[in-house]
Amino acid sequence: MNLHEYQGKIILKGYGVPVLPGFLAYTPREAQKAAVNLGLVNGKSTGVCVVKAQVHAGGRGKAGGVKLAKSPDEAFSYAKSIIGMNLVSPQTGPEGVLVKKVYVEGGANIKHEYYLSLIVDRQRGCISAIASKEGGMEIEEVAEHSPEKILTLPITLESGFQEYHSRLVAKFLGIEGPLVSKFSKVFKSLYNAFKGTDCDLLEINPLIQTADGEFICLDAKMSIDDNALFRQRQAFNFLDYDEIDEREIRASEVGINYVALDGNIGCMVNGAGLAMATMDIVKQAGGEPANFLDVGGGATKEQVTEAFKLILKDAAVKGVFVNIFGGIMKCDVIASGVIEACKELKLEVPVVCRLQGTNVELGKKLLSESGLKIIPADDMDEAADAIVKAVRGK
Ligand code: ADP
Ligand code: MG
Repeated sequence: MNLHEYQGKIILKGYGVPVLPGFLAYTPREAQKAAVNLGLVNGKSTGVCVVKAQVHAGGRGKAGGVKLAKSPDEAFSYAKSIIGMNLVSPQTGPEGVLVKKVYVEGGANIKHEYYLSLIVDRQRGCISAIASKEGGMEIEEVAEHSPEKILTLPITLESGFQEYHSRLVAKFLGIEGPLVSKFSKVFKSLYNAFKGTDCDLLEINPLIQTADGEFICLDAKMSIDDNALFRQRQAFNFLDYDEIDEREIRASEVGINYVALDGNIGCMVNGAGLAMATMDIVKQAGGEPANFLDVGGGATKEQVTEAFKLILKDAAVKGVFVNIFGGIMKCDVIASGVIEACKELKLEVPVVCRLQGTNVELGKKLLSESGLKIIPADDMDEAADAIVKAVRGK
């Protein structure tokens, strides 16, 4: 689950990570008031504040979603231009995202921008810290053209966070003298926040050094492991329905793993591995999957019905590929769910159904007696070819 920058900063503050004061604003008026609260006065140079689009995507600065305001009136007009804008950055895809709110934050006097993140490093089986001296808005280019400027430091679960980790990173970042211990304190707090909130990513870009030698997190990208949300109440309450695909919300309500994709072939599969293989085989046959959907090993008829309805409700779907291996799952349960969903929603697209495993004969019988136009298939290659052809109208 992704958090907004302002939410991440609320959590980080609780762990003692230095962040600047700020206020969330849904309207230009609120942004103006926030600027006043941050000490800005019209007509007087009393400092600056920053108006920042709150969306689940980075690259906002370059996309015009981060603006420096010198007065409450300026904060008003920047908020007016940012709220309601369609923000397009390399992380949003070409269609962009609608900005509904901004974070108005105190302005920092930046001496240097560093990059510092912590990730769950699946390859090494530990948490890794990633750091660079070249933080800020060009980090993607640094990663691509000068990877030697980026340090990856594994922090094993056995050792946990140790002082030497921060000394190593500080050295790589060129941080020296009394600044090292200040940096270490921030780094350690970030590590504690990462572990304490079950993050899979915590990215601070930039972590800045101010003119008076303080380290402050100016940006925060935080992602919480969905499987830990049951014990991460604060993060769970930060769930922002504006930012999540409606179908994914519905799917999680009924306990189905669903990810919306760009293609037009809906896939209903049991088991994540088979779901991945199904997407691959659809692509190999020349088609594009409209979703990843795993109904799980022991889905009920109701869950299967909901899953099939989710697929059919997607206007982009021009055909459905049901690919089930009945192990714990029984093929007749799948068939009943498909039939039930089709009773409720008119089936207007071709469906190819490949069933194998427990109760396969019963499942096939139910489908063939249902009167629904379902194209049966026995193996995956054949099924993928059939659905791609059917979608193309051949
Ligand atoms: P994004 O990564 O989405 O572009 P950031 O929060 O990193 O957004 O902001 C982009 C840039 O704007 C930062 O690299 C920094 O230079 C500047 N910036 C962000 N917040 C502040 C702030 N509070 N004070 C001063 N400058 C800021
Ligand atoms: Mg940033």
